Amino acid sequence: MRRELQRFSSSILCDYINNSQFNAVAKLQGDKEYIGIFYGFTFFVYYIFLTMMSDPKFLPEIGDVSLESLSDRRIRLLKNSTDPEAALVCTAWPKCPVRRSAADHMIYIAHLFLYFHEAAHLEFCHLYLVRDEFQSDVYEEIEAFPLSDEEADVRQVLELQADQGGALTSLREWRAAWQHGPVAVKHSLDEDLLWSASVEILLILFQYIRIANNKKLSPSHPNPFIRWLNVKMSTSIYAEETGLKNVNSPIPLGKRISEWFSKTLLDGAPMYSDVERKNAKLELYHIWERIGPYRDKLRQYQLRRGHVYYYPGEIRT
Ligand SMILES: [Zn+2]
Repeated sequence: MRRELQRFSSSILCDYINNSQFNAVAKLQGDKEYIGIFYGFTFFVYYIFLTMMSDPKFLPEIGDVSLESLSDRRIRLLKNSTDPEAALVCTAWPKCPVRRSAADHMIYIAHLFLYFHEAAHLEFCHLYLVRDEFQSDVYEEIEAFPLSDEEADVRQVLELQADQGGALTSLREWRAAWQHGPVAVKHSLDEDLLWSASVEILLILFQYIRIANNKKLSPSHPNPFIRWLNVKMSTSIYAEETGLKNVNSPIPLGKRISEWFSKTLLDGAPMYSDVERKNAKLELYHIWERIGPYRDKLRQYQLRRGHVYYYPGEIRT
């Protein structure tokens, strides 16, 4: 996977980090730029996608679900993924070749999204802003660490930008890869459905990791439900503006994916509270305003680099 991701940039060095946690970082060291993916991210992404596609109740529209089965043991190990047995049991591939191929593609797309999210932190100069303004040279995705209110506000906006970059660029690269991929599987799979399912599972996975590890929401990252909403809105608003065909996912996915996590892994506990859902749109709107005076500062770095981020409602020039 590392080699496949590295080919997207000659200036950003991408490598695995020997850490079993579900995480990734973008980092500056002098003028060198790095993306580090914790191997725990790749492991758990494999466990989740292979297990979901082996469940005959999940996305039965894809392939032949009569070939699939999901054991209680596999669910138990998925919940306790540090058990060494999980590496054997949770990596069993779906039996149906179409579902197997769908899982394989979705794992690739999840890595594309993560990579381009981290690359957006670098390309949109987020690291340079937080280095010069807040004396930090690293962008970590999961771990919560104390920040001033001002830095937390700015970082939340930068996360939304990085998610939009991750979404739109992964969609573009995925469609290009699909066009050049083998024809055999194409007639039975929909590339936009695969992209939507993969990205939505990944964003819901961020919330699951938080709940499963009893972690507080990181002050640097918006609630995953808001991030999900932001990705959905940005792909529908900006796809065509940035020369992409809008995403046409033939199946509504968000509810089905969060129900799968809730029923299968959380004994029916909801993934999000009613308040989180109800306030998400308004909260998203307010987060954008929190960039405050840093908006112009960030723009100066971006103009120098030639990668300008356009805010919602801003006219592209
Ligand atoms: Zn980020």
